[in-house]
Amino acid sequence: MAEKRDYYDVLGVSRSAGEDEIKKAYRKLAKKYHPDANPGDKTAEDKFKEVNEAYEVLSDSQKRAQYDQFGHAAFEQGGAGAGGFYNAGDFDMGDIFSMFGFGGGSAARRNGPQRGRDVNITIQISFEEAVFGCKKDIQVNVTDTCDTCGGTGAKPGTHAETCPVCHGTGQERVVQQSIFGSMQTTRTCSACRGTGKKIKDPCTSCRGTGFVKKTKKYEINIPKGIDHGQTIRLSGKGEAGTKGGGYGDLLVTVYVKPHSYFIRKGMDIYSEKTISFTEAILGGEITINTIYGEQKYTVKPGTQPNTVITLKNCGVPSLRNEKYKGNQIVTLKVNIPTGLTEKQKMMLHNWSNPDIIVELPGNDEKPKKNFKEKVKEMFE
Ligand SMILES: [Zn+2]
Ligand SMILES: [Zn+2]
Repeated sequence: MAEKRDYYDVLGVSRSAGEDEIKKAYRKLAKKYHPDANPGDKTAEDKFKEVNEAYEVLSDSQKRAQYDQFGHAAFEQGGAGAGGFYNAGDFDMGDIFSMFGFGGGSAARRNGPQRGRDVNITIQISFEEAVFGCKKDIQVNVTDTCDTCGGTGAKPGTHAETCPVCHGTGQERVVQQSIFGSMQTTRTCSACRGTGKKIKDPCTSCRGTGFVKKTKKYEINIPKGIDHGQTIRLSGKGEAGTKGGGYGDLLVTVYVKPHSYFIRKGMDIYSEKTISFTEAILGGEITINTIYGEQKYTVKPGTQPNTVITLKNCGVPSLRNEKYKGNQIVTLKVNIPTGLTEKQKMMLHNWSNPDIIVELPGNDEKPKKNFKEKVKEMFE
């Protein structure tokens, strides 16, 4: 079977796409590949299934978070996910059709349950922690339901009454006079601020709001291979919603501190290694630092400065599948020696000018001969 495509690619959205964007992309593709629109077309049918599978995951914040962390592995048997929730055979067409219906009712929803806000935080981790994964303790201040009153806002033992102004709807009608005559509009009830309730004895812990700020601590798992700027979604760890609307999510964005030696680009790691000029000329075994420890490498004789070598699988593991790793790309720098001794200078001079041999001081008594003559003499 072909490799599973990335769910974000399937829907053609970015990893940071919001719920609405995902829904929109899904609707478009589901319409395009719908079996009714493509009778007997096997490719369209497969696409339709693929699109639905992607949407099934990305539209659910919890599943999406698992996918973001573990990729397809999250939903494979024995994977990190909670088990196979998706089964193409169980696919419910009703879900699809209901989505194309005319929704409406947004005005009614305004006063209905609302999901809590998502909370964004940033954490800083080291280069190595990003490569190898880690656990981090985090602390967030979020708005949560007041424990004293259970979120009702009324003092324990009392209860909220229906707002006499809006009769519990949270909306009030107002008549405005304009140049077109009198116009009736609806707005949020000013007496209860849209809650539909009137609290006589407000809860002292939350001053009648039903919400309090709480400091919550979590240990989060930073997966291997995470990169700078990526976000981990912790489902339901955000702020409390209203009227049973559920909790928002906690979004933890990772800031990876730069390394003093390595530079990361995607799954590859870049570094430089300085070798001596004799190693460059003669070749030899050198030791290169990788994030997995030192690695031996044999430099070829005649290696030029800025030669780029690749150490396979010494890069960052894939976030999706840690079996796959990037490479380490090493640029070899050649150290040109300074502060040479007279002898070294002489040797190099003679090497570059074999016709004009310079003798070391102290050897002056010998007659000067050129290189060719010397060689000739040696072999006669
Ligand atoms: Zn309270
Ligand atoms: Zn009211």
